[in-house]
Amino acid sequence: MINRRKFLRHSVLSTGAILLAQQLNAKSNLEVKLPLVISTWAPNVKANKAAWEILSKSGRALDAVEKGVMVVEADPDDTSVGYGGLPDRDGNVTLDACIMDELGGNGSVMCIENIMHPISVARLVMEKTPHVILAGKGAFEFAIQQGFKKENLLTASSEKFWKEWLKTSMYNPMDTMKHMKQKRAPGSIDNHDTIGMLAMDVNGNLSGACSTSGMAFKMKGRVGDSPIIGAGLFVDNEIGAATATGVGEEVIRICGSHTVVEAMRYGKSPREACQIAVERMYKLRKNNLNDMQIGFIAVNKSGEIGAFALNEGFTYAYRLGDGIDVVKSADFLLKK
Ligand code: ASP
Repeated sequence: MINRRKFLRHSVLSTGAILLAQQLNAKSNLEVKLPLVISTWAPNVKANKAAWEILSKSGRALDAVEKGVMVVEADPDDTSVGYGGLPDRDGNVTLDACIMDELGGNGSVMCIENIMHPISVARLVMEKTPHVILAGKGAFEFAIQQGFKKENLLTASSEKFWKEWLKTSMYNPMDTMKHMKQKRAPGSIDNHDTIGMLAMDVNGNLSGACSTSGMAFKMKGRVGDSPIIGAGLFVDNEIGAATATGVGEEVIRICGSHTVVEAMRYGKSPREACQIAVERMYKLRKNNLNDMQIGFIAVNKSGEIGAFALNEGFTYAYRLGDGIDVVKSADFLLKK
């Protein structure tokens, strides 16, 4: 039974949202705490906080995920997203991002350079063009036409790190990972930690956003899962949403985030659905994956959240209706 008084105390809700919450509770027996936001990786509590500024004022989930992700994109100390992202093997910072709204709208940019906020460009691709993906030079030119500034995204510290890497130029993601461990988010076991963010607003609408500079020292032109709808992110406003972090090549192979949402469609909880995607990946590729990290987070339409990773060390951060920051370590498949 829903504890209505508690529900009202902890949430900023419109009447419509209360009705929705009652319907959801009737269906799932859960106490829904709206709004909610969940992000990959512990340091992204800062992104959740920014998203919360919108969500707690009954704002739209789409605005919240864009705003949250922008915080990380602008952070020079986050070396795997936006400004300060580690470059490709030739020294170019190339960024991938995508966004999905509650109406099934989606927009992506791939391999865009010199633009601080690829997530906002992705949103404009969705809202202002007849297309869903713009890549490379075309994405950059579109951004400039839309008023974005051309900026150098390679910070002195990331450049130093790249020059250090050039001495060996080991193009092996796992070796590179060992090389750079100290630079990554706590708990990351390899050289990437995309922000994927999912939010549900007080009206029960879902949106998601995903942004990354991809794998450090990748080949020029390499695109990972993060800007690919269904791989790095998938939102179905009737069912739920999921997003991924980790080695994009593996996530793409199984259309990871779509797989998670489809498992929820057939009744799995968000955590079970994330585990199904990880297990499918492992079944395909087995020992190739031992040293890699791949993690999923998900939320269903009842406001239940969950996560699962391939290896130990994947963390996620969330705020539910009470607005309190929570950080958790995900369960994982490969117990050593
Ligand atoms: N998934 C991203 C990619 O493969 C990397 C990451 O999660 O850090 O590009």
